[in-house]
Amino acid sequence: MAKVLVYSELNKGNVKPVTLEILGKLNGQDAEVAIIGDVSDEQVKVLGEYGANKIHKLKGDKLDKYSPEGYANALHNFIKDGSYDYVLAGATSAGKDFLPRLATKFEAGLASDCTNFIFEGDTFHGTRPLFAGKCLAKVDLQGPKPHFATVRPNALGMPETKNAGAGEASDASADAGDIKAIIKEIVASASEKVDLTEANIIISGGRAMKNPENFKILDECASVIGATVGASRAAVDSGFAPPSMQVGQTGKTVSPSLYIACGISGAIQHLAGMRTSKVIVAINTDPDAPIFTKADYGIVGDLYKIVPILTEEFKKILG
Ligand SMILES: Cc1cc2nc3c(=O)[nH]c(=O)nc-3n(C[C@H](O)[C@H](O)[C@H](O)COP(=O)(O)OP(=O)(O)OC[C@H]3O[C@@H](n4cnc5c(N)ncnc54)[C@H](O)[C@@H]3O)c2cc1C
Repeated sequence: MAKVLVYSELNKGNVKPVTLEILGKLNGQDAEVAIIGDVSDEQVKVLGEYGANKIHKLKGDKLDKYSPEGYANALHNFIKDGSYDYVLAGATSAGKDFLPRLATKFEAGLASDCTNFIFEGDTFHGTRPLFAGKCLAKVDLQGPKPHFATVRPNALGMPETKNAGAGEASDASADAGDIKAIIKEIVASASEKVDLTEANIIISGGRAMKNPENFKILDECASVIGATVGASRAAVDSGFAPPSMQVGQTGKTVSPSLYIACGISGAIQHLAGMRTSKVIVAINTDPDAPIFTKADYGIVGDLYKIVPILTEEFKKILG
């Protein structure tokens, strides 16, 4: 049995779902969770229900605001004397930012952005996409422990059965150490919508959206089905949508249950960011658009006619 520490990121005090996805795959391992920030007793209980034996609430100076150096230092100081075999975290913006720093402090291997992993006995085997998702690499980690891995949100899915852990919570002091780059302000997105990388449903618009105003039809549909709106790079470069909405090789990597691509041709760089979506629906006027080769369902037609019809139908079904 391996001893595994899962770093749990918080969103407005709530544990990000990827933590629970990871815990669900740790059945049979000794799973513990580390959290930096204020977390409610209710959320601590949830972590126990999903399999955490211990929940360490790290507290210390200079940890009130996220900083890659501070968080890496704090976790390093917390685990350096520990006996963890593996440290896992979500491949979120923060996870991708600071976990490599942490792994470097241990001169240890990191399997980044895994879309799956299994434990054989106490040995981790990860799977991660390479070359814009064209092939999958099996990754084993060697060398001194702990070993590190980040896991793409939504890739594992929420566990069907929970393997309850002891759920013992305790405070631990954490030293953020010497921080050279001070984060003065973090500007949160004005949108209340779930971040693209964690969204369960995404509806994206491409160059065919023609202007920012037309994204309203996607917003309307999104509000009915609880989706987050994304965009292709052509739409972003044309000024129709902000860069934070870009999906793809140089944008965000997403793995939702449902991805609806509207007026997006399906360039390899766009596919790189969304090809691990569980179900892909494409709406495009061109029947030969490459996106149809990757789509589970394709609608050949004008998005300006199709999307409003879909929105109305979804309203009827979902109320
Ligand atoms: C290094 C590099 C990195 C890149 N990174 C990214 C990235 O991260 N993300 C990304 O998306 N791209 C990226 N690109 C750009 C990528 O190559 C494509 O240019 C881009 O994805 C095209 O966007 P699009 O599909 O919206 O536009 P287009 O390729 O122009 O496609 C528009 C589609 O809309 C359809 N259409 C037109 N009108 C309608 C209508 N009324 N209804 C329905 N369909 C309609 C057309 O048939 C067409 O298929 C990158 C390129 C490079 C070189």
